[in-house]
Amino acid sequence: MAVDEPAEPAGARPGCGGLLTVLGCDGSYPGPGGAASGYLVQAGGVTIWLDAGPGTFAALQLAADPALVDAVVLSHEHPDHWSDVDSFAVWRREAVPGRPVPVYAPPGLRRRSYFAEDPVLEWHEVEPSQRVAVRPRPLQPTPGPASAPGGGAAAESAGGLRLSFCATDHGPPTLAVRIELGAPSGVDGSTRPALGYSADTGPGWAPMELGPGIGLLLCEATYTGDREGEGRHLSGRQAGALAAEAGVGRLVLTHRRPTTDPAALAREAVEAFGAAIEQAAAGQVHRW
Ligand SMILES: [Zn+2]
Repeated sequence: MAVDEPAEPAGARPGCGGLLTVLGCDGSYPGPGGAASGYLVQAGGVTIWLDAGPGTFAALQLAADPALVDAVVLSHEHPDHWSDVDSFAVWRREAVPGRPVPVYAPPGLRRRSYFAEDPVLEWHEVEPSQRVAVRPRPLQPTPGPASAPGGGAAAESAGGLRLSFCATDHGPPTLAVRIELGAPSGVDGSTRPALGYSADTGPGWAPMELGPGIGLLLCEATYTGDREGEGRHLSGRQAGALAAEAGVGRLVLTHRRPTTDPAALAREAVEAFGAAIEQAAAGQVHRW
């Protein structure tokens, strides 16, 4: 496993660079003391909670002020990717009443939530190939001295984030997502590379479907090559090969099942990718 970015304080100013904070990365279910899939994406003056698996809301509260979450994006209806959004809804009802948070999810997921019809959440059904813009919202950090890092971090002039989706090769409707700044970020008007997230998928999906210019691909790799075909997931070998084919800059593997040997998974992924890879770990912050 190679981690080429030093950890930095979560909750750093979202407006000054793209940050990806791993809240949880266990595949299919949380391992001992772990959390399932969930990430914070902070850039362009906005904070997006990308997947909300069990254990990730607890981690989110350590990484940032949950009141600063501008949108929740859920990849699919398997509970290891969304169930903590209901805990978040309970928290919002008490902490920030009267201000619904947009939740973007594929068809069918909303009806599984206890808060499907509750105005605390503002559900949006997302189809593959759809585009969504998330723009900075007025600041309303949680009152009180116990606010977590990240308060007051949104940049008013930031251009938000643009999201584009595509369907993956999984059971229920599942969305991979490309995330990029809503406005050029360089002094010369250049744009930063995009962040790609595979969600859960089998080998029938390819990262190149997210388009060119993926600087960091967060890609699932659930098991090792000897288990390929057991489910609609990827092995380390498959994830590495697909990422190489797509020409992504960096590869961060996630959704490793707790019973999978991380060293064996990394070995086959590095060989297939042809370069060093990173494996997601809870609390890690990656710049993209
Ligand atoms: Zn999963």
